[in-house]
Amino acid sequence: MKGKSLLMIPGPIEFDLDVLEQMGKPTSSHVDPEFIDNFGRAIENVKLLFQCKEGQPFIIAGSGTLAMDIAACNLTEPGDNVLQLITGYFGERMKDIFERYGANVTQITAPTGQVQDLAEVEKVLQQKKYKLMAITHVDTSTGVLNRVKEFTKLAKKYGVLVIVDGVCSVAAEELKMDEWGIDVAFTASQKAVGVPPGLALLVASNAAMEAFAKRTKPVANYYADWANWLPIMQAYENRKAAYFGTPAVNLVNALDVSLQKILKEGLNQRLLRHQKISKAFKSAMTAMGLRQIPVNPDIAANTMTAPFYPKGINPGEFLNAVRNEGVVLAGGLLADRKNEYFRVGHMGIVDIEDTMTTISAIEVALVKGGYLHEVGAGSYAALQIFDQKTV
Ligand SMILES: *Cc1c(COP(=O)(O)O)cnc(C)c1O
Repeated sequence: MKGKSLLMIPGPIEFDLDVLEQMGKPTSSHVDPEFIDNFGRAIENVKLLFQCKEGQPFIIAGSGTLAMDIAACNLTEPGDNVLQLITGYFGERMKDIFERYGANVTQITAPTGQVQDLAEVEKVLQQKKYKLMAITHVDTSTGVLNRVKEFTKLAKKYGVLVIVDGVCSVAAEELKMDEWGIDVAFTASQKAVGVPPGLALLVASNAAMEAFAKRTKPVANYYADWANWLPIMQAYENRKAAYFGTPAVNLVNALDVSLQKILKEGLNQRLLRHQKISKAFKSAMTAMGLRQIPVNPDIAANTMTAPFYPKGINPGEFLNAVRNEGVVLAGGLLADRKNEYFRVGHMGIVDIEDTMTTISAIEVALVKGGYLHEVGAGSYAALQIFDQKTV
């Protein structure tokens, strides 16, 4: 949007104007027929987005952390064995949430920038019976893309339910709930789904809903309890109103618009677009001599990039210099390594122009910081990926 800076962080992101328009409209009643229809369509479209035909969507006001909370509280009872695969900050958070509900959590933490070894995870799965395994698809603190498909297949072999934190992946990375056998996947509105912050989106498989039905104790969280929300989601999907907590009317309308746009682009096309932009951005970083946290390209996210600062660059000065060029980037998120790297989100409606603008701003900041002598190498590398030598 002209006259404002370009928001290139891993959420919130730049939003489509048709989506934003919904936020400023007069708020209707949550039982208004038009809203009922919008909510119902959004629920149906969430199933298409997560590629889960028979799944049960939950669209609830809150951030991505609420989605984590919903997954954990509804499926764990005190003493349940949970296996948490950690590739960064959000895996640690998920583990904390499970423990809050009394789960007995075993964690396998990959070294920073890496993913777990399949054989190592299998060995752990053989040691005792786990109820759940949780995995972060893209850990936003590291930009590591975990191998959800392979790990889900492995967990299924041992009869373990799989929960995927897809907050930085859904709507931009390949994620097929039905085909891969995922039991719960979730995201938040402000990431690749392209809606302002405030909605948690989650889909539960039939097996997850059956496990929920078999609970022996009530869910230890009132707001997030599926028992409260299931009748609401079912009612709106059947184009009827029901009440438990007031839905975030404007956000749901914005989600409805965004989901229609996402599905119109096509999930495959959208994935290819994200892959291309990511490849162009990453090759620009490499051309400038900036290494990235993921140790190899096949475990690097397409939604974001986490480059290390080059030698001699001051993190605060760099981020300010980029901001002065009109682009907002994020600093590091790993507590002990915050000042070693920065993070760039490139998801949602991001296009070639946004990508090139961001690369140029980084080049200028690196020249100002005394690391580069001139601009151009990064932009040139990206343009080669976009297959056009001039803008
Ligand atoms: C952003 C994010 C979250 C948390 O979402 P909030 O909306 O900030 O609560 C959880 N997991 C991942 C992978 C994320 O990227």
